[in-house]
Amino acid sequence: MALALYNTLTLKQEPVVPLEDNHIRMYTCGPTVHDYAHIGNFRTFVQQDLLRRYIRFLGYKLSHVMNITDVDDNIINKARDAGVDIAEYTARYGQAFLEDMDKLRIQRPEVMPRATAHVDEMVQLILGLREAGYTYESEGSTYFRIERFPGYGKLSHLEGVAGQSTERIDSDRYDKENPRDFVLWKARKPGEAYWDTPLGPGRPGWHIECSAMSMKYLGQSFDIHAGGIDLVFPHHENEIAQSEAATGLPFVRHWFHIEFLMVEGQKMSKSLGNYYTLRDLLEKGYSPAAIRYLLLSVHYRKQLNFTMEGLEQAGAALQRVNDFVLRVREIPSSAPENPDLGERIKRARRDFQQGLDDDLNTSVALAALFELVRETNILLDRREVGAANRDQILALFSDANLVFDVFQIAELRLDDEEILRLIDERIQARRNRDFSQADKIRDTLAQRGIALEDTKEGTRWKRVL
Ligand SMILES: [Zn+2]
Repeated sequence: MALALYNTLTLKQEPVVPLEDNHIRMYTCGPTVHDYAHIGNFRTFVQQDLLRRYIRFLGYKLSHVMNITDVDDNIINKARDAGVDIAEYTARYGQAFLEDMDKLRIQRPEVMPRATAHVDEMVQLILGLREAGYTYESEGSTYFRIERFPGYGKLSHLEGVAGQSTERIDSDRYDKENPRDFVLWKARKPGEAYWDTPLGPGRPGWHIECSAMSMKYLGQSFDIHAGGIDLVFPHHENEIAQSEAATGLPFVRHWFHIEFLMVEGQKMSKSLGNYYTLRDLLEKGYSPAAIRYLLLSVHYRKQLNFTMEGLEQAGAALQRVNDFVLRVREIPSSAPENPDLGERIKRARRDFQQGLDDDLNTSVALAALFELVRETNILLDRREVGAANRDQILALFSDANLVFDVFQIAELRLDDEEILRLIDERIQARRNRDFSQADKIRDTLAQRGIALEDTKEGTRWKRVL
């Protein structure tokens, strides 16, 4: 078994083979911190987190970089309206983004560089492009001349995007129908934040930041670049053009793009009133685990139709698994093994991993777990689940949680201090000849995955998970 991912560049599913040893280098386009991220953004970030976790689950070393865009047109305008400078304005939403990430159990990438802290690197990259003849200047701004880069359009597979450079665009917002030369360096405008550089006073365009920061931390060629599907064109197309023009090397092996999230069958928009931030949903009483689960449950290359009903179902599905895990934990250590079930659990583990190997198909992987829950619940009613089966099942769900992180398994883990406290309480109960209380404590610990062994030297404990 091996992980294979669909590649937007080749339009094929391809095995992921690291360019260097056992080390995967991955860049994911991060948030523009001008507002709270909405759940459509978080679908992308949660799916990227799943990819990150699965790569680590498979035993690869991972270097993951996610940028924070803290300067662009939107930020400049909103900061001005709020009457604060852009650093103060973006710090607020940068912090909010980290808090939301934590709530959704999105792991922190190894490096989270901010654009404004890497202006030097961007300027160097643009100067190199200028030297090689890929740029031209107009009214103090520097543009990339797309007709100079023959590979332009190879990622988006759009007809006729290459070779047109009669118009130029210096906005951070683009229109798919009008490919034009894009801005690398924007001339200073009155009242805007700017940097004094050899390119003149101004600020970097949006695209150059991802090329500069990804290559700084991951090298000139790396394994995976991910983002929302709306970034394919022009953002990622422009990243390829800038980077490959500058280095002469292939920029990225695999391009990984996550489809849109729809709300009640429509595009999410503020005017339709179906625009939700994570905070909106938490205020309505939904749990972060249910939101994460819903965002992960549909394959990333399919559109996800987000509904409140779907969110409630996600919560119910999680509850079913959590109840099942609790029930399985109660199986006493004396229960004899059911060898058929042992085989069945192995198959579930295989199906789970095969689903994820197959282009990170989360719906197949989750179905493998739910099918096992359904079948094992029937066996639990008949008391046909053994202690060995219990341990296998708990190990499977614990492993699955390394990737999905939605089940209440970690929360069931007692910390060492609490275990020692319960063991002391049990010793005390035995001294008081309160054996039923002592047994109750032993059972409580067993249900939480802690086995006790009474020896001459005292009580030893170990985790059975
Ligand atoms: Zn980017």
